Amino acid sequence: MTDIRIPDALKPVDGRFGSGPSKVRPEGVESLAAVSRTFLGTSHRQKTVKDQVARLRRGLAEFFAMPEGYEVVLANGGTSAFWEVATFGLVRERAQFAEFGEFGAKFVKAVTDAPFLAGPTVHRAPGGSAAYLAAEAGVDVYATVQNETSTGVAVPVRRVAGADEGALLLTDATSGGGSLDVDLRETDVYYLAPQKALGSDGGIWLALMSPAAIERAFEIKRSGRYIPQFLDLVTAIEQSRLEQTYNTPALATVFLAAEQLDWMNSQGGLPWAVKRSAEGAAAIYGWAERSEYATPFVTDPALRSSAVATVDFVGIDATVLAKVLRANDIVDTEPYRKLGRNQLRIALYPTIEPSDVTALTACIDYVAERL
Ligand SMILES: *Cc1c(COP(=O)(O)O)cnc(C)c1O
Repeated sequence: MTDIRIPDALKPVDGRFGSGPSKVRPEGVESLAAVSRTFLGTSHRQKTVKDQVARLRRGLAEFFAMPEGYEVVLANGGTSAFWEVATFGLVRERAQFAEFGEFGAKFVKAVTDAPFLAGPTVHRAPGGSAAYLAAEAGVDVYATVQNETSTGVAVPVRRVAGADEGALLLTDATSGGGSLDVDLRETDVYYLAPQKALGSDGGIWLALMSPAAIERAFEIKRSGRYIPQFLDLVTAIEQSRLEQTYNTPALATVFLAAEQLDWMNSQGGLPWAVKRSAEGAAAIYGWAERSEYATPFVTDPALRSSAVATVDFVGIDATVLAKVLRANDIVDTEPYRKLGRNQLRIALYPTIEPSDVTALTACIDYVAERL
């Protein structure tokens, strides 16, 4: 079956549809190659690298129209590290979560396991639907996911009405940030990683933090709580203000992310990126709705993500489909393993040409008809 050859004319220009790591623009890699002798392999304590960290922080602030007083903070370890950082450095005592997929569940686990915190309240919903936060006395951190990458469900970023004064809202925007709309005034921490919609490589976390969130980090630090050095949010804030990181960052990741943000800002910024992702979404969901063997996994159209689309198949083995696509250089369409569906998952990040998404649907049809 895997010897099905898709005609070149049908194929996308770029066959990378992974949800993370995701497509990196060749132009970004060329720019990186151009500074390979002057930037790569040089000290992260010197101006050359600090200038790139500064460019990245400026680029994020501009792209997300960051409100007055908010700050861009970054450090090593990707979003998974940030969950631990937030567990130690942002939750005062009691958190509440909306959990509707594998990524949300990982942050819940970090907080649940922390012996110095009260057990969190968790609103859960099965894969393909959404769970929501609700005001609760005594909760000092609310946490949700803008785009659940494991299922392709997206929810708006909105403050919790009736929450206690000073309660923080933390939004996991790892895959939604850069594809989905956001007004940062609606959240205190909008955190992401560069290997998704930002079209860079992995290894660092990025957080856009409100003054209240920054103040909370300092308050908890002053309280004397034990915080592992590597996970100290106050250190990350202070280092970021100096355009540095606590320990050595992935220089290529920083550069590619800065490059990508400059590119996206020059194209029209977040409104442009949101529109472009939506075009890809219209192509894939429209096709799935018309198809006889494919159907969008997320039944409520309002929850269907335009960052990551999930499509179920009936009568066709999606595992074989993904294998044939891979053999034809169309890669990473496999679903999130643990979801266990007969499904393909396709990233729609702004780096990915909407016309390539349309081409992908033609390729799927071509293969499906031959299976
Ligand atoms: C990919 C992803 C993560 C994990 O990011 P890492 O940088 O690999 O730790 C967390 N949350 C969401 C929503 C994601 O898509």
